[in-house]
Amino acid sequence: MNQPTGRKPLPKLSKSSFNAGLQCLKRLYLESFHRELVPPVDEAQQAVFDAGTRIGELARDLYPGGTLLEQDHLHINDAIAETKKIIAGPPVAAIYEGGFLFDDVRVRVDILPRTARGRHDLIEVKSTTSVKEEHIPDVAIQLYVLEGAGVKVGRACLAHLNKEYVYPGGDYDLRQLFAIEDVTAKAEEYLPSIPAALKEMRLALAGAQPPQVRPGRQCANPHDCPLVDYCQEGRTGHPVVQLPRASQSLLALLESAGIEDIRDIYAGFAGLNQLQRRVRDCVVNNRAYLNPAIRRELAGLEHPVHFLDFESFNPALPLYPGTRPYQVIPFQWSDHVMGPGGKLAHREFLHDGSSDPREPLARSLLKTLGRSGSIVVYSGFEETRIRELSEALPHLAKDLLALLDGRIVDLHPLVRDNCYHPDFHGSFSLKAVLPALVPELGYGDLDITNGQEASLAYAEMIDQATPDSRRQEIRADLLSYCGRDTEAMVRLVDTLRGA
Ligand code: SF4
Repeated sequence: MNQPTGRKPLPKLSKSSFNAGLQCLKRLYLESFHRELVPPVDEAQQAVFDAGTRIGELARDLYPGGTLLEQDHLHINDAIAETKKIIAGPPVAAIYEGGFLFDDVRVRVDILPRTARGRHDLIEVKSTTSVKEEHIPDVAIQLYVLEGAGVKVGRACLAHLNKEYVYPGGDYDLRQLFAIEDVTAKAEEYLPSIPAALKEMRLALAGAQPPQVRPGRQCANPHDCPLVDYCQEGRTGHPVVQLPRASQSLLALLESAGIEDIRDIYAGFAGLNQLQRRVRDCVVNNRAYLNPAIRRELAGLEHPVHFLDFESFNPALPLYPGTRPYQVIPFQWSDHVMGPGGKLAHREFLHDGSSDPREPLARSLLKTLGRSGSIVVYSGFEETRIRELSEALPHLAKDLLALLDGRIVDLHPLVRDNCYHPDFHGSFSLKAVLPALVPELGYGDLDITNGQEASLAYAEMIDQATPDSRRQEIRADLLSYCGRDTEAMVRLVDTLRGA
């Protein structure tokens, strides 16, 4: 790795680099000096950022009549100078995206409404539906800089989406859409630890090499670190984090024993549950496990057997009357139907247009599933969605709930309890199980290859701004993807029955 030569002055820290440093000093170092190692933002991340931007903009209207600092992150010094002028000038109702500098830390504050006696509240806007532990340092570093810069802060608050808000249609009622929580006490409690944390970060940044930090629990806590692939390169093929349901205490125990790879866990290692011991045995001996009981279970499937899969999306800002922030909305299903002789038919539904997909989806679902036959799914997702549909559509509730009356067969727990292959790498998701058990059937030939991509594609498809030709393209991609999921279940059951 080429290190920065002729040590440049230490970079100024920001709110995000402070948070990166709290997660991992190596992350802070690499993101500061080796940006080329950080993968570009993907479509899913960009969608999250875009939703965050929209939510931040909406939250400003909770404090109307303010002044927006429009300088982007490349012109933060201009934003800081401008904010200084605004604070010193005639009072304004609020400052949006104000820039502040203290102790070589620069922050932008989402909203700074002016309150009584020349004070300002600090409002940090989050697109979550609750205050999370990691939000406190985020607010505290802003409080640290604001107070250091001479701003008199009244309250420090988090404005987040209110998960109880039910959208009635029309314009959002912002006072209901957002919940504002006062976290002043928690942020103040955190303040004294900030100087030491900054010192540690600067010490790390002053090094000629990145700090030696081994990948561990911090890589996904509180956020997935974008450098995971870089840090894992050339490392063990079966890291202990791949043990199913590995608790933090088990990982700590393995770490203290110096065990990084499942293959190094000795027989009789205390602390593994039955499933983890099975995974360890399969990996150590490089062999698969299959309990013949799974065949008996699958022999009980009743014809016509429906292999069912839903696709859904969960917009942060509710789109349809009667829905809440982040409510999961199913918009598509695929059903492969197997008759008594093994003959297959395929039916599908994908909602068109920008209206609420739930009722047309529910009606078409009832039609395809009829009143008899097993409904094979992979996870509890479909059952949960059917229950939600029954609550949202009381006139269809009886028929929808009848689908759940002994007809659902969930393959996920069946596979988890009866089958393991070292190539599962600790996951029992369909995407992990399929390549190991049905290697000839994958998703590589499709444009949409997972549920998250399907959600994003649907959001694009129903966007009024999307050209018709692109909508048609997305529609075809979504149908191919969801159809492949149910085809995969058919093939998986065939494989397990014949194994
Ligand atoms: S992947 Fe883990 S070890 Fe590597 S920089 Fe990120 S948090 Fe640190």
